[in-house]
Amino acid sequence: MKELKERILSDGKCFPGGILKVDNFINHQMDPKLMREMALELVRRFSAHKINKVITIEASGIAPAIMVGFYLDVPVLFAKKKTPSTMENMLVTEVYSFTKNRSYSVCVSGDYLTKEDHVLFIDDFLANGNAAIGIIDLINQAGATLEGMGFLIEKGFQKGGDELRSRGIHVESLAIIESLDNCTITLK
Ligand code: 5GP
Repeated sequence: MKELKERILSDGKCFPGGILKVDNFINHQMDPKLMREMALELVRRFSAHKINKVITIEASGIAPAIMVGFYLDVPVLFAKKKTPSTMENMLVTEVYSFTKNRSYSVCVSGDYLTKEDHVLFIDDFLANGNAAIGIIDLINQAGATLEGMGFLIEKGFQKGGDELRSRGIHVESLAIIESLDNCTITLK
């Protein structure tokens, strides 16, 4: 998506270890107009699917997910990174975090993710696919159906995209980073 790619090149910052920071329009300060355009583009790309719920993981997935949910006119469920003692009918999985270099539990209530659901997963980044695979586990535990996975930015040099596509999942990414070598952003 042209606007996003231009914004990554103008405002994205590269950090050692293959980390891209987009803190001035996605991950800290947010640009609502760009977020709206990105959501509309994701909705267009998944228009062949019947979706009745959007799912994401807190915190950075929530902004794009709620925009997508708004335009699809469906509820948005975010997986929580802490397991609240008050949650009923809890489904839990483990996710390894690339940026934090540790594993954490994520959970959703089975009251909100059920076998009736046809789910679109939305997240800001696709890197090694660990968050996505954790969500697939929660969807499977609930007996729900995964319709697709949409990302704002895919790091094409990490293995998540290949892993998810090889499972036959409909994956869409609005910008694919080919390389962050030498702290230079190269887009596909
Ligand atoms: P994965 O689970 O696919 O390995 O990593 C995706 C998650 O890690 C995303 O939800 C995102 O929050 C975070 N992440 C991975 N790589 C980057 C990066 O280069 N920059 C930022 N800002 N977040 C990243």
